[in-house]
Amino acid sequence: MHAIGIDIGGTKIAGAVVDEAGEIVAEERVATEAGSSGAIIDAVVDMVRSLSAGREIVAAGVAAPGFIDDAQSTVYYAPNINWRNEPVQRQLSERLGIDVTIDNDANAAGWAEYRFGAGRGGKDMTMLTIGTGVGGAIITGGRLFRGGFGAGAELGHMRVVPEGLPCGCGARGCIEQYGSGRALLRMANEIADVGGIGLELAEARRVNGALDGRIVGDLIAANDPGALHALEQLGHWLGQACASLSAILDPHVFVFGGGVAAAGDLLLDPVREAFHQHLPARGFHPEPEFVIAELVNDAGMVGAADLARIHAAAR
Ligand SMILES: [Zn+2]
Repeated sequence: MHAIGIDIGGTKIAGAVVDEAGEIVAEERVATEAGSSGAIIDAVVDMVRSLSAGREIVAAGVAAPGFIDDAQSTVYYAPNINWRNEPVQRQLSERLGIDVTIDNDANAAGWAEYRFGAGRGGKDMTMLTIGTGVGGAIITGGRLFRGGFGAGAELGHMRVVPEGLPCGCGARGCIEQYGSGRALLRMANEIADVGGIGLELAEARRVNGALDGRIVGDLIAANDPGALHALEQLGHWLGQACASLSAILDPHVFVFGGGVAAAGDLLLDPVREAFHQHLPARGFHPEPEFVIAELVNDAGMVGAADLARIHAAAR
């Protein structure tokens, strides 16, 4: 039986028909009209109708960036797409006439990795998505953890530095300021400022006007010592965060997704090293695995579809 998964991003809405094994059968995408909540609902309705044509669809799941209630129905707050207490589930299910659920995009992506990707086969998985910011998802006892209000697993806003760098969330010292793609750029710029191993970074910055994720990623791939040092710093912060998370959640596996995770073991090696240095009661704690996500860009759609299918089956 097929389900539809829709991933609403800041720049595009991507939708797919997904089978029970997590395989994508058909796919569509359109640009997001950010700031217009009604236009986004219209676009999702059009996409679900188009993907449903000629197929039997059991449910549709929507993944959106923001706080979503535990009943998978209301978006409390989605800053990028201008939703405030938006009853998205009701608006969509009334127009579409099928079972609809809403989930946080990082949770949907984590669920997809747990069911069909790098976390499959276990019961307890923690995922960190290292993109521009840091996203998170927690699977515990084989269930997606949403928290009491549905706003849990915001791992990027775990504080790692008291009175540290200000964060977009309004707090200070969040891991997002030390372990994200944006943090990697800041560290690369600092290394370029010093010179020494930062000479290549400084030259790339001069030629291009500024460093960006692609430039730093290319230098990492070329084994530039300055760029590798920035990635190592990032990995150390993330490894410390994983040690704290292990003390609370004790997952079998940590999965790393997002653009920066493309660095593979170059990221995971410093993560593992810092994890072992900071793990409470180290030597006595069984070792979790650290792995890279497998589903990459499709994870939000695949996870949203699967969560919708499970929700419909439980009704
Ligand atoms: Zn924060």
